[in-house]
Amino acid sequence: MSKRDYYEILGVGKSASKDEIKKAYRKLALQFHPDRNPDDKSAEEKFKEAAEAYEVLSSDDKRAKYDRFGHDGLRGGQDYHGFSNAEDIFSHFSDIFGGAFGGGGGGGSIFDDFFGGTGGTRRSQSRGTGTPGSDMRITLKLTLEEIARGTTKKVKIKKHKTCSDCSGSGAEKGTSFNTCSVCNGAGEVRQVSRSLFGQFVNISTCSNCNGTGKMISQPCKKCHGDGRVQDETTVKITVPAGVSDNSYMTLRGEGNAGKNGGHAGDIIVVFKELPHEYFLRDGDNIIYELVLSYPEAVLGEEVEVPTLNGRAKLKIEPGTQPGKYLKMREKGIQHLNSHGAGDQLVKINIHVPRKVTSREKELLKELQAQPNIVVSVD
Ligand SMILES: [Zn+2]
Ligand SMILES: [Zn+2]
Repeated sequence: MSKRDYYEILGVGKSASKDEIKKAYRKLALQFHPDRNPDDKSAEEKFKEAAEAYEVLSSDDKRAKYDRFGHDGLRGGQDYHGFSNAEDIFSHFSDIFGGAFGGGGGGGSIFDDFFGGTGGTRRSQSRGTGTPGSDMRITLKLTLEEIARGTTKKVKIKKHKTCSDCSGSGAEKGTSFNTCSVCNGAGEVRQVSRSLFGQFVNISTCSNCNGTGKMISQPCKKCHGDGRVQDETTVKITVPAGVSDNSYMTLRGEGNAGKNGGHAGDIIVVFKELPHEYFLRDGDNIIYELVLSYPEAVLGEEVEVPTLNGRAKLKIEPGTQPGKYLKMREKGIQHLNSHGAGDQLVKINIHVPRKVTSREKELLKELQAQPNIVVSVD
């Protein structure tokens, strides 16, 4: 039986990047996952086929062999063994889904949708008590001046904080806890489930007590048993010099507080660059357009131009041409995480008046009569 082309299986081109391959595989794995397609043999085949294609194309070495020799290049050697069982396929999942969806967040990952809880060797890392706090997103508008040298901003936000009255336990002070009747205090519930790949023991956090094993007998009056209260707070954000538009930084653990001992979420700060009155940004360089009069360009002159750090003098050499860029060294944006700065590039333009007085006209006619006015003397 001849095998299908791996690129065709994933629906990507031969020159697809690793990222495109990963994305394509993720999409197919989601679509054909056995838990979503119970008792569907063709979905199971497609799922295995995609996993095999991904295994080969995600490895530089195997992909190179496959590109040169096709399926034959992978046969016989130690390199290729195919998938003999489910664990092999699932070994990819932490790679594919773990990084993007695991950890943090408002509780629950894509694994919950798939596997209905924790099973086998998968996902042992995210087990723990408590519900993590959710992440928050702040958009921070910055001027080019602020970006050029870095800045510190204070932003007021509303977020969940741990209740000070009960220290986050949710129980009224001086009251006792009862043992959870669902998990008998263990905090987790075991369930045996079957799937196409055999039997799994699912261990999931007890939903009755949220994994604490305890139940509150009398809820805290301030937070009504939640353990958290909504509160306004000021966050100080230190923006390093040189950040770009739409880039972001993460303030770990500064987001919403978790419940029952779960860790706090993060604050994701997204930077927005405000347009500037005079300057255009090009990486760490800034571009300024300077319009000179014809005599200024011909005779040369010292002019003043705006910079990100106040006005500065700039020498115009006699005979400066339109379209030329003059470089003002290190007057641009500081490099992110390294020394030095970009430059300010001054683009020269020549002003051509739309109207002239009769005297000006006279002078220009006189100038025009000169022998070398049209032909370049350079
Ligand atoms: Zn409380
Ligand atoms: Zn329980």
